[in-house]
Amino acid sequence: MNDVTPLIAALKTEIGADAVLTDAADLAPFTEDWRGRYKGPAAAVVQPSNTAQVAAIVRLCAARGVPVLPQGGNTSLCAGAIPRNEGVAPVIVNLARMRRIRHIDAANGSMEVEAGCVLKTVQDAAAAENRLYAVSLGAEGSCQIGGNLSTNAGGTGVVRYGNTRDNVLGLEVVLADGTVWNGLRALRKDNTGLDLKHLFIGTEGTLGIITAATLKLHPLPTQHALAWFAPSDPAAALQILGLFQAACGSRLSAFEMINRRQLELVIQHVPGRRNPLGELHEWHVLVELADTSGGDEMAALLQQTLEHAAEQGLIHDAILASNETQRATLWEIRHSVSEANKKAGVGLTTDCAVPVSAVPAFIERATQAVHAIVPALDILVVAHLGDGNAHFIPFFTFDAWRELADPAAMAAAMRRCVNDVAHELHGTFSAEHGVGQTGLPEMAHYKSPAELALMRTVKTALDPRNLLNPGRLIP
Ligand SMILES: Cc1cc2nc3c(=O)[nH]c(=O)nc-3n(C[C@H](O)[C@H](O)[C@H](O)COP(=O)(O)OP(=O)(O)OC[C@H]3O[C@@H](n4cnc5c(N)ncnc54)[C@H](O)[C@@H]3O)c2cc1C
Repeated sequence: MNDVTPLIAALKTEIGADAVLTDAADLAPFTEDWRGRYKGPAAAVVQPSNTAQVAAIVRLCAARGVPVLPQGGNTSLCAGAIPRNEGVAPVIVNLARMRRIRHIDAANGSMEVEAGCVLKTVQDAAAAENRLYAVSLGAEGSCQIGGNLSTNAGGTGVVRYGNTRDNVLGLEVVLADGTVWNGLRALRKDNTGLDLKHLFIGTEGTLGIITAATLKLHPLPTQHALAWFAPSDPAAALQILGLFQAACGSRLSAFEMINRRQLELVIQHVPGRRNPLGELHEWHVLVELADTSGGDEMAALLQQTLEHAAEQGLIHDAILASNETQRATLWEIRHSVSEANKKAGVGLTTDCAVPVSAVPAFIERATQAVHAIVPALDILVVAHLGDGNAHFIPFFTFDAWRELADPAAMAAAMRRCVNDVAHELHGTFSAEHGVGQTGLPEMAHYKSPAELALMRTVKTALDPRNLLNPGRLIP
């Protein structure tokens, strides 16, 4: 066993006693995941205030062979940010104190922020300069830029602006030996060799700790047109997506689909949420157009496109938001799904992406696969349809879950059968949440030996002693 007492003492001296937590009660919020499903031991939680302190922590831990686990807002849905229950207990480096917005260059469409900035704070700061930071997701009030980058987070804006990887220009990273790599360039063109930032985006803190980023900003859309409609089925929703893409081009900013059971849970478990349509239909889509001007024209375009879809028999019902309050209310329904599911029972969240055209087949076949294991089990579908990313969630009530003889085996079997369907359709089991702990067995199962070997080569080159978030990503 590694005696961490000297390390803790050194960390307190270097970073400050108030920034090093070791009492069990203080550690608890950092060692358990958002839904209270996973827990793991930590030697300490350290909260640095600047990049030099992060580098010092990494060096001190490396000197004693103690692993380091970077942590952002701890909103991971795949147990990504909490310690494993095996190996040496890590020091958690929680970035929450590094929340400075260093610089906004509106003319360049860029802003430099520290990794611990909460996503919502970044969006608001950009908006104050009439700019948009385009990554948006349900956890934006608590997830951090460092966590978004390390998981290459997606969310509801990907259909127009891409995922986090597409919205970053530069990074500052602390490497495994404590070296600080300053790659905080604010350039849209730079062909000087390997684009190193991409090594650290989406690799979940296994190659370095991101301490700051230069983010890409867009013109701030001030005009929006939003509708909530009930397509006859996912294939119809896909056809309607095509109609919107043809009619609205890059103004199409969100195309989100949920199924009836998911909407029911939101209505039942989140106060203030109501079914926007007269009936509870099987499928529901939120579609939004956005631009810097032309609000009336967009509202007309939205209506015409929906009418066009209705003429083709693709829609049961629809409602257009007629003001900002209605628009916010409809978005709140979409953003309430995780909260509702947490309160309602045990949803086995999956994170598959398939080619957009294959989403209806994915939903149909995954439903059959799940029902072959548990007939008639409730299934929740939350799809970023425009990106081909469908969270297909086999759902158990708390009672049903407690009655299972082996819940862990059930969770693994459910995830595997859903992921198998995605794989057969040339898709992936991990689209936007990261691999975390729940996805690790799937890496071994689906990734080719050649791909895993390449990843190991990169990991060994950057972190030869395997001290940065060990036991993640690469089985
Ligand atoms: C209500 C809700 C809705 C959500 N909706 C979406 C969604 O639509 N789309 C989506 O993509 N995700 C979604 N998520 C998942 C989650 O919010 C994202 O994965 C988010 O990007 C995680 O950010 P975080 O700061 O909480 O990171 P954490 O959970 O703290 O960490 C995630 C991973 O990143 C690593 N990490 C964190 N910070 C750093 C750093 N500075 N340097 C290196 N590694 C680091 C951690 O070690 C861990 O492996 C949702 C979660 C919730 C609770």
